[in-house]
Amino acid sequence: MVALLGLSQPELKEWVQQQGQPAYRGQQLHQWIYQKGARSLGDITVFPKQWRESMAEVAIGRSSIYYRSQAGDETVKYLLKLADNQIIEAVGIPTEKRLTVCVSSQVGCPMGCDFCATGKGGFKRNLAAHEIVDQVLTVQEDFGRRVSNVVFMGMGEPLLNTENVLVALRSLNEDVGIGQRNMTVSTVGIRHRILELAEHKLQVTLAVSLHASNQVLREKLIPSALRYPLDELMAECREYVKITGRRLTFEYILLAGVNDLPEHAEELAELMRGFQCHVNLIPYNPINEVDYQRPSKDRIYQFVKVLEEYNVAVSVRYSRGLEADAACGQLRAMKS
Ligand code: SAH
Ligand code: SF4
Repeated sequence: MVALLGLSQPELKEWVQQQGQPAYRGQQLHQWIYQKGARSLGDITVFPKQWRESMAEVAIGRSSIYYRSQAGDETVKYLLKLADNQIIEAVGIPTEKRLTVCVSSQVGCPMGCDFCATGKGGFKRNLAAHEIVDQVLTVQEDFGRRVSNVVFMGMGEPLLNTENVLVALRSLNEDVGIGQRNMTVSTVGIRHRILELAEHKLQVTLAVSLHASNQVLREKLIPSALRYPLDELMAECREYVKITGRRLTFEYILLAGVNDLPEHAEELAELMRGFQCHVNLIPYNPINEVDYQRPSKDRIYQFVKVLEEYNVAVSVRYSRGLEADAACGQLRAMKS
């Protein structure tokens, strides 16, 4: 076993019984690791001393905060150090009513999207389920308030790590207490994986990173679009809506002069026709490696107007955390 975090209450009960302890200790263990923030079995003072000491090597699966930076808008970026010294990012985004955590699903990302700092930084490995759950607990503890929402929009492509992401979603829902409807998984689209997710009939929101209104443009921005073309992706998305009955979100990054012209908006509206969906426009956040520009407010407004004329539900997401390099697409495991 790698770590205890991510295990359900029945699984923890079974585990303590295997260690020769009574089942109720599993319940205590559950409470201590998910509610009380125990970082090692040695912390769990209700356990018999001898057992605690003999179990000292068993990992709960917590990371340590390697670096923390706060933007003027209260958004906090964390660099977290994992057991093998890899560094990942998590971001805490507070509002009056909510505390949202943007979690990573991989160390780096192999997809190599042209506008994304994570994509430019290469790929190391998938995160284990406990490493995903830990990010939420870490932000919750640091803010001293309960996390209400989780978005898989940090480093990595969640659907390349579906198995562990599913375990983490279950645990965040049942063990940490975050409603499924308050969680969003964002994907650039991996063949067959959207349908695989649909089969699990979850209530989580799926966000699909589209970023282009046609195949030629999408290939330029997203290398994997060559192997998994837009029409196939859209067909899978339609099937997803049919199976789950859930509305999809499409994300569309706005790059000045590249994909933000009125004809792109019209083409996008055409793609959305008859679709139960919501379009989230994300004005580009600058990264060092490429010289894309963020469109002007006026251009963004024009784009929104065209979509609205076609009755597409649309919103603009002005990313927070820009000053802390914590905004969408700026995540890389570096101190800024
Ligand atoms: N790999 C997944 C989830 C992580 S990226 C995905 O691509 O969907 C989360 C979101 O941030 C995606 O919509 C992504 O396109 C967006 N993003 C990436 N780079 C960005 C940048 N430079 N500015 C704004 N948004 C960006
Ligand atoms: Fe990976 Fe998403 Fe960045 Fe593309 S946008 S490189 S899929 S993290």
